[in-house]
Amino acid sequence: MPELPEVETTVRGLEKVLLGRRIERVEARRADLRRSFPHDLGQRLTGSRVAGLGRRGKYGLIDTDRGDTLVFHLGMSGKWRLDPAELGPHDHLLLATDERRSVVLNDPRRFGSVDLIETAKLDQWGPLSAMGPEPTELDAAQLHSKLRGRSAPIKALLLDQRVAAGLGNIYVCEALHRAKIHPRRAAGRISLAAIKRLVPAIRDVIEEAIAAGGSTLRDYARPDGELGYFSKRFAVYDREGKGCACGSPVRRIVQGGRSTFYCARCQH
Ligand SMILES: [Zn+2]
Repeated sequence: MPELPEVETTVRGLEKVLLGRRIERVEARRADLRRSFPHDLGQRLTGSRVAGLGRRGKYGLIDTDRGDTLVFHLGMSGKWRLDPAELGPHDHLLLATDERRSVVLNDPRRFGSVDLIETAKLDQWGPLSAMGPEPTELDAAQLHSKLRGRSAPIKALLLDQRVAAGLGNIYVCEALHRAKIHPRRAAGRISLAAIKRLVPAIRDVIEEAIAAGGSTLRDYARPDGELGYFSKRFAVYDREGKGCACGSPVRRIVQGGRSTFYCARCQH
């Protein structure tokens, strides 16, 4: 499942093909993913020029010079393919540029989404309107006061998009391990000193993953290059029973229906 660093890497890969280019052709090859494609997608995008690309949480953003933003979410299995030689059954949306290049949204499970929103109203658009700060831009004092009085486990609250936008299960596990905070700790009872370890830990695990993805970007120049997934090394995530760096075995518990990996010796 693509997490925030994959979305960021995807946006940077799309940028190389799309930025400044005119979109000459838009081909929606089905009517919907998780929800319908906008009915006027082709009409509003065709002939526009791509003015900028960005990301908010796990949403990728493609701005046009007509004041629209194409907002995409990769869901469970989405990825963009660059300049595919031919299209397959899971290629759902194609954008072709004036340089005869193309990008294709591929999503076998179809939990992704594509929306077209007026750029000026993006902040008020439903999924983005209540979003908290980017995980790399959290402030320790603000996070500490936001968590005050909350009895839910810190693990659960860090997955709440209102607390941090797009911070997924993998990076919450890794950041809590790096900050030496037990995932079951009541969020409101974590000291400011511990939050001051947590905030840079979150920023670092995200930035390291983006850097790892970025280092594979050169491979994307090949035909049929795919954006969206890259292998990463984790300290605790998906390592149940294997050794933490301290030598103690990594444990797995289930919180809110999702696996949490942690080290009982390192995290308190
Ligand atoms: Zn340990």
